[in-house]
Amino acid sequence: MRQFVCPGCGAANRVPEDRDPALARCGRCKAEVFSGAPLDVDAEALARHLAGTKGAPVLVDVWAPWCGPCRAMAPQFAAAAQRVGAGARFLKLNADESPGLCAQYAVQGVPALLLFLEGRLIARKAGLMSADQIVDWVSLAAAKAAV
Ligand SMILES: [Zn+2]
Repeated sequence: MRQFVCPGCGAANRVPEDRDPALARCGRCKAEVFSGAPLDVDAEALARHLAGTKGAPVLVDVWAPWCGPCRAMAPQFAAAAQRVGAGARFLKLNADESPGLCAQYAVQGVPALLLFLEGRLIARKAGLMSADQIVDWVSLAAAKAAV
């Protein structure tokens, strides 16, 4: 059973195995559960996604507006999100707005990618990554989730 959080209203939506989550609509507000684009989250929304996403990884791009490499990675991250589709939830967290979370997850610099499975941090990468590298990395974690 996979479960994803609606970007619109924050409701957790269970998706049966025989349904494609990429096509799912929220049972509460009818928004698309996956738009194909990364979602901007604050600390509260991140917590909701970590608690409410089951059976698929959550990948968080920790970035900052003043950071050149972060801006360079943004289109790579977006391209990876489009390719992975509903295989993982792609989120973007502004480090400047969530210093508490950065401390909690020991983020030393940006860009940083944090990979969560079933609410737990399982891997991290620091620095610029290409869309191909991001897709490969997340696919490994997704394969673990499917076991
Ligand atoms: Zn909704």
